[in-house]
Amino acid sequence: MTIEPFKRSDFRYIDAHTHFFPEKLFKAIWSYWDRVYIPFFPTWKNIYEWPASELTAFIENEGTQYYTTLNYAHKPGLAANLNDWTFEFCKTNPNAIPFGTAHPGDDDFLEYAEKALTEYQFRGLKLQLMVTDFFIHDKRLDPLHKMMKDLDKVLIVHAGTAPGIDQQPVPGAKVGVDAFKTYLDKFPDNKVIVAHMGGYEYEKFFKIVEQSPNIYLDTAMVWPPPESELFPEEDAPGRILGDERVLSFMESCSNRILFGSDYPFIPFSYGSQIDELLKLQLSKGAFENIFYNNAKGLFDL
Ligand SMILES: [Zn+2]
Repeated sequence: MTIEPFKRSDFRYIDAHTHFFPEKLFKAIWSYWDRVYIPFFPTWKNIYEWPASELTAFIENEGTQYYTTLNYAHKPGLAANLNDWTFEFCKTNPNAIPFGTAHPGDDDFLEYAEKALTEYQFRGLKLQLMVTDFFIHDKRLDPLHKMMKDLDKVLIVHAGTAPGIDQQPVPGAKVGVDAFKTYLDKFPDNKVIVAHMGGYEYEKFFKIVEQSPNIYLDTAMVWPPPESELFPEEDAPGRILGDERVLSFMESCSNRILFGSDYPFIPFSYGSQIDELLKLQLSKGAFENIFYNNAKGLFDL
């Protein structure tokens, strides 16, 4: 008996990993991309280099009901303004789930983070440890993590070592599972989404999820369409761990995995990662959790 695979239209979607920046920063990021990433990933050409207002119209038209507003400050002096921008942006985009950011190099980072989480009612904060110069367990962040726990907010971090060459992190990136474990020992009750399923340290992050009830993973960029030839096949989770381990983990921990796309920083069509996930042929309940239910609960929607 052959089982009919599920179709995109069988599910509702919340995208836990999307980026929206002010126009000027978007432009700076696009040009940084061309200079820094293209030499590593020659086939990577972002196709959604659009202003934020066009991006939201498109993603809603694709059938995604809600989506996060991840942005980040790669250096001090930017985060407070970014949070203000996100607050304004979400006023005109009610389906956006507001996330702020913070940089411990700012003297007032606790104040503006608190403003974002309380007055602005942001659902959480994003830290992009690939491009910032601090680790997640940086002592300066301790009062921030404590505040997030007290306020029951969600932290989204890029904590794993991907992307890089030969499964090594980009030189200088303040990432890796050891740093994350040091943080987790200090703050075991905080809610955290680890982006990209923790790649390339998939197994180590899977184990953390199996042992720590507040840790979640998002699927962004982990299943790109193969025709994009974006990442070497050896880097895929199924190749690193074996398909069986990956599929049984996704099924048994489906309540801790969130669909994320990394839109608009993607060089292929928005829905193609959904199609790739559907090819994994998980159960209907697992897909409902991953595509919608988990985010609905975690983001209080
Ligand atoms: Zn991202």
